[in-house]
Amino acid sequence: MNVHEYQGKEILRKYGVATPRGVACFSVDEAVAAAEQLGGSVWVVKAQIHAGGRGKGGGVKVATSMEQVREYADAILGMQLVTHQTGPEGKEVKRLYIEEGADIADELYIGALVDRETQQVVLMCSSEGGMDIETVAEETPEKILKIFVDPDTGLDRAEAENVCQQIGIPSEAVAEGADFLAGLYEAFVKSDASLAEINPLVITGDNRVIALDAKFNIDSNALFRQPEIVEYRDLDEEDANEIEASQWGLSYISLDGNIGCLVNGAGLAMATMDIIKLYGGEPANFLDVGGGADKEQVTEAFKIMLGNDNVQGILVNIFGGIMRCDTIAEGIVAAAQEVGLNVPLVVRLEGTNVQQGRKILDDSDVKLQTATTMADAAAKITAAVSA
Ligand code: ADP
Ligand code: MG
Repeated sequence: MNVHEYQGKEILRKYGVATPRGVACFSVDEAVAAAEQLGGSVWVVKAQIHAGGRGKGGGVKVATSMEQVREYADAILGMQLVTHQTGPEGKEVKRLYIEEGADIADELYIGALVDRETQQVVLMCSSEGGMDIETVAEETPEKILKIFVDPDTGLDRAEAENVCQQIGIPSEAVAEGADFLAGLYEAFVKSDASLAEINPLVITGDNRVIALDAKFNIDSNALFRQPEIVEYRDLDEEDANEIEASQWGLSYISLDGNIGCLVNGAGLAMATMDIIKLYGGEPANFLDVGGGADKEQVTEAFKIMLGNDNVQGILVNIFGGIMRCDTIAEGIVAAAQEVGLNVPLVVRLEGTNVQQGRKILDDSDVKLQTATTMADAAAKITAAVSA
């Protein structure tokens, strides 16, 4: 689950990580009131969407008067903000964050994530803040220093101070930099994050170390023990189909293609998407109905796919183990009756109760093609959608 920048900063503050003061707002009047409340003479008006690169897209503006705060808030609120992470259609801005302006002497980068190879949290630290870290990793990888943290002993203080020095934190701020890293590490672990990225971390004119941006991804599997973070969920930022699917206990991820896939088991779902691509097609979604789905869940899964305008064909690929093929067949028939099947459908069923499943489909008036192997299925569905 993703959270907004201002929410990420609330998490950081809980663990003693310094951030500028700020107020989240939903209207232009609130934005002006927030700037007045903050005081000072420089404010930053920041679009809150679940995507980075907002500054370049015009979603972060520095204001030096109340008139400007109003002007920028008015311009950004409601805009369709396009960044390299939103896709070309962009995202509508529905929330703002009004923050006190920081006196920036230097912009650095700190990111925390889980390194799967060493099974440890790694802090990635770089002098190259404020820009795309992917570009830094590609062009000047030597400018990214890594601190691996042993979960038993925690962050090594001397190592943290050493890295702070190497990424250009001035010596009088090195202790504060190491505190920052320790706080970030704690915030990461305690909030069950899978990513916590501070880009930029800034050194101010008076040598303070503060987080100017905050991006947190929280491991969805841990949300049951993170009630405060669950409160941060913003459904406006999530894909409508994915929300619908999660309410039905289905693992669904939207993709850009036009072939809907209904599969049981994550591995088979991945293999099915691969073979669709091998045959020149593009999957419209990843959908794992799981091992124990019932007829209602299968029906809902079908309705979600049929409700997606991009879907020009559906491939059902089921290997019945715990899942029974007749349950899938009943779901297909029920969904087709409820919402009408207006796209080509290819079905491959194998395994438990396959004969009953095929009979249910044969006896129904649902128009479909059956397939024997995965290759056969992929060939038939890609031919059907390109016809
Ligand atoms: P994004 O990464 O989505 O573009 P950031 O929060 O990193 O958004 O902001 C982009 C840039 O705007 C920062 O690199 C920084 O230069 C400037 N900026 C952001 N917040 C502030 C602030 N509170 N004070 C001064 N400058 C800021
Ligand atoms: Mg940023």
